Amino acid sequence: MKIFIRIIRIILGLALLAAFAFGLYTFGSAAPKSGDYLSQLEEQSAPISPVVVTTPKPVSAAPQDGETAATAEGEGPVVEPAPEPTPLPNTPAARAAALGLPEPPNVDITSWEFMLVNGDHSIDQYEPEQYGYLNPTIDAFDVQTNFNPDRTAVDFRIAQALLDFGTAAEKEGLNVYLASGYRSYASQVDNFNRVCANNGVSDGKDKNGYYITMPAGCSEHQSGLCCDITDKWYGTKTADALRNTPLSVWMAAHCQEYGFILRFPEGKETFTKVMYEPWHFRYVGVDAATYIMENNLTLEEFVGLYQ
Ligand SMILES: [Zn+2]
Repeated sequence: MKIFIRIIRIILGLALLAAFAFGLYTFGSAAPKSGDYLSQLEEQSAPISPVVVTTPKPVSAAPQDGETAATAEGEGPVVEPAPEPTPLPNTPAARAAALGLPEPPNVDITSWEFMLVNGDHSIDQYEPEQYGYLNPTIDAFDVQTNFNPDRTAVDFRIAQALLDFGTAAEKEGLNVYLASGYRSYASQVDNFNRVCANNGVSDGKDKNGYYITMPAGCSEHQSGLCCDITDKWYGTKTADALRNTPLSVWMAAHCQEYGFILRFPEGKETFTKVMYEPWHFRYVGVDAATYIMENNLTLEEFVGLYQ
């Protein structure tokens, strides 16, 4: 009997041992292994992908009457072809007509009479090839070619025309004084500095931006093709003092008959960039002078018709 009881105890003991071993096995396989646990953490900490909501694109409305299909999605606006530009008139006559001017004279604009000298066109160190010397009060009717400091120098090619112009004025009973003809580059440097100093400016311009004296190389006097003409000597020439003298009035009316123009007319300062100078006359020849004076032009405008 004791042996039987001992056998039962042994069987129970084995059964308990087996039960314990089974339970241990089952618990161990259910627990996550270390690698699995880390991968679970990484999944949890991974950023959450944004939810992409796709909305259907609106269906473009069909073009209404009058609209073009090109305004629909995906196409740019229709660029209307630019109209053909109106070709610029390419002849002096056509350019003049476009400005309401009569046909200009048939001149060679590259000839010396039309040399343009102004603030935008310097002639640098240019000098006339030959000078003509005139008595400044036109009481000796000859043109000298040898240097004479008591006479007014101009380009020889305009000397006779200037003498004829002055002589005609004197025949009208007017006093004529050839105040200033040719000026050298060097003398214009001095002139520019003096006028600037007297007027408290440094660029030769007045408060409106117009020249009251030209930088050297930009003065028409250096060309020898012009002359300041007054009725007597003036220390300072002003438009107010000289605009209505009998000589100024006569010269403005008759200069073109001798091939001269009033170079810096009143009201044309935007073209010449020079203030009104009723005393400054420039030679361009009778045909051009007549056209310029009859149409109230400047030399800048006239030359522009040919270029
Ligand atoms: Zn002048």
